[in-house]
Amino acid sequence: MEIDIERAKELIAQREEIDAELAGLFTGEKKKRSPQKCSSCEKEGHTARNCPDKMPVVGI
Ligand SMILES: [Zn+2]
Repeated sequence: MEIDIERAKELIAQREEIDAELAGLFTGEKKKRSPQKCSSCEKEGHTARNCPDKMPVVGI
């Protein structure tokens, strides 16, 4: 059985966005979508989890 790691990462990133939005709803805070910022390379638009500059260690 093969796991589609890329798809999984995509879904996780999406889930995190949704979680943040839900948290905002439940706390009644209207949160503007803050741009994702990578803690690895400091660029916006992605997180360290899916940083293109950093090869993930997946052990495959
Ligand atoms: Zn990055």
